[in-house]
Amino acid sequence: MNFVRLSRWMGRRILLGVTAGAIFFLLFPAQAWPWGCEGHQAVAMIAEKHMNAHALEMANKLLQASPIDPTLPRYCPNVGLDLFVDSATWPDDLRKVRPEASPWHYIDIPRNAPRSQSILEESCPAATGCVVSALEQQTVLLRNENTDPRVRADALRFVIHFVGDLHQPLHCVSNNDEGSNCVPVDFFGNSPVERNLEFETYSPNLHAIWDSGIIQRLKGQESVSQWAASLDQQFHAEEDGWEKAGVNIDDWVWESHDLADSVVYAKLPVAIPVEKPLEVKSCADDHHVSTRLFALHEQVGQQYVDAVAPTLEEQVAKGGIRLAMLLNEIWP
Ligand SMILES: [Zn+2]
Repeated sequence: MNFVRLSRWMGRRILLGVTAGAIFFLLFPAQAWPWGCEGHQAVAMIAEKHMNAHALEMANKLLQASPIDPTLPRYCPNVGLDLFVDSATWPDDLRKVRPEASPWHYIDIPRNAPRSQSILEESCPAATGCVVSALEQQTVLLRNENTDPRVRADALRFVIHFVGDLHQPLHCVSNNDEGSNCVPVDFFGNSPVERNLEFETYSPNLHAIWDSGIIQRLKGQESVSQWAASLDQQFHAEEDGWEKAGVNIDDWVWESHDLADSVVYAKLPVAIPVEKPLEVKSCADDHHVSTRLFALHEQVGQQYVDAVAPTLEEQVAKGGIRLAMLLNEIWP
């Protein structure tokens, strides 16, 4: 891992919250758990309800035959989860041992960019890959019965995870802010604190609250499976339409990208200007982007959560339905 990639990797991390995070922070100074644990698990749980019997059987066979390395430290609690749901968070744990797979979780399409194939390609450098190319490559490996079974099981775990990631709008955008990891926000009175002086990262930040802070507020006391079941129910009327639209990864990415601007940024109490796209390797770049945004004193509370909840919930539900569609297509 060269320094550029390391700093990129570090800058991209989301920093953990205050209390439990304090000790954890000392051990793991900069970790990202996109869509947190609950978001990825809910996507997988909704998918399972919409997969056909053949797809479920094939997926479980693959995962049983080549389980996750038991020595790999797991961040998300997985007691009581089946193999498919547990797989949903594995690629985030893997980032420590396979840093080259880190850029596969997102695509930095400039904020406000209109849909175009050339912008999509420019935003997905061949040298590193991005969520679009990674999802396509892992789908090819998964589809091929001649793929080594272990590689094929890993491919399934990547597919489960990446479909979830690309439905998090902030995984499909950059405003020179590392998918808004560089946007410090006060979250329900929890003021942003600078966590890394070199990379100028803050916690809480906008990306982190979309990954987990807001989900935890919306889920409340419900278990993840209860929350997933209620989302599935809530969007029941729309699910047919999503299925009829078919599998189209580019469409999903652009939809997510557009929601970042029209909802995630638009609903903030203080408007954040659109930056002229630059290559940013940490929150210290673009004239100290995070420190400039810190000065806006962005305050996120119940009003913001209420305004974005329908979008966040719909994206989790869509992620689940679309993951099922993709796997049903592989195993009809
Ligand atoms: Zn991820």
